[in-house]
Amino acid sequence: MPEAIVYSVVIPMYNEEEVISETYRRLKLVMDSTQEPYELVFVNDGSQDRTEYIVQSLCLADPRVRLLNFSRNFGHQAAISAGMDYAEGKAILVIDADLQDPPEVMLDMIDKWKEGYEVVYGKRLKRRGEGLFKKVTAHLFYRFLKSMTHVEVPVDAGDFRLIDRKVCDATKQLREKNRYVRGLISWVGFRQASVEYVREERWAGETKYPLRKMVRFAADAITSFSYKPLKLASYLGFTLSALSFLYLLTVLYQKLFTNTTIVGWTSIVAMNLFFYGIMMMILGIIGEYIGRIYDESKDRPLYIVRNQAGYEQRFEEELP
Ligand code: UDP
Ligand code: MG
Repeated sequence: MPEAIVYSVVIPMYNEEEVISETYRRLKLVMDSTQEPYELVFVNDGSQDRTEYIVQSLCLADPRVRLLNFSRNFGHQAAISAGMDYAEGKAILVIDADLQDPPEVMLDMIDKWKEGYEVVYGKRLKRRGEGLFKKVTAHLFYRFLKSMTHVEVPVDAGDFRLIDRKVCDATKQLREKNRYVRGLISWVGFRQASVEYVREERWAGETKYPLRKMVRFAADAITSFSYKPLKLASYLGFTLSALSFLYLLTVLYQKLFTNTTIVGWTSIVAMNLFFYGIMMMILGIIGEYIGRIYDESKDRPLYIVRNQAGYEQRFEEELP
């Protein structure tokens, strides 16, 4: 009988051909030093470059390497979810493929886990080599999200973390479609601790998170954990109707009791523009939620695995 796997490292990858061999080398160094059985679960999120073939060859050379190939790009959060679904270890570590999260920090996470914490997340002290725009938006995003929700989602913590098997199983029960995984992990609770680290520069390649994906990610995070935008929309609606009502009284008064000529064209146009703008915004907010309800009701799978590698060898080993 092969020894039970203790650590599963989940690595989501999208077009990471430039870094992935180096990532493997660093991960292997760190994980070998634990001297416990582990697996590396590489999740290829529909890369169009050579990522798949590089990991495929790693698979052939190292039985601890697993590869899941998605049928297309399903997104970072879906890739992490897949890794968590397939991971077999007692502790699951999620790490980006680009070496921005230093693999060595995983050893600190493991220490905390051994102390009895069930979630150990990495808290970014500093972000190196990221543009001002990314830093500022990320900073604002985490604080805005915190003000919007009751769930204790730690600020400045990414998906780089260790979770215990129990947490993984609990999180797996939450099958919502537009996922914000770190929020789900906070939602399930358990004993949480953090380790601080400095986020490094990307080892090679470019970010796979263009603005479009960032906006979507932020919208998913907020809508999955808060109704506040809807509440704000309705408060705004009430306030504006109250103000409009007062203005209506003024207008009626003018009409009935004074003979000032109507000179209101500018105010009508201004009010129209203002109110239509607000209305569209509120409809947009409602639309964000309805779209997500629609996604839920379709109940499509979170991702589709085209094929997998690295699992067969183990099954052969397990034969008598
Ligand atoms: N990633 C992914 N699918 C995507 C986009 C990104 O699996 O659609 C992976 C990517 O390969 C990396 C991680 O998610 O391992 C974080 O992406 P990236 O480093 O580009 O984001 P950033 O650090 O710039 O926010
Ligand atoms: Mg990165």
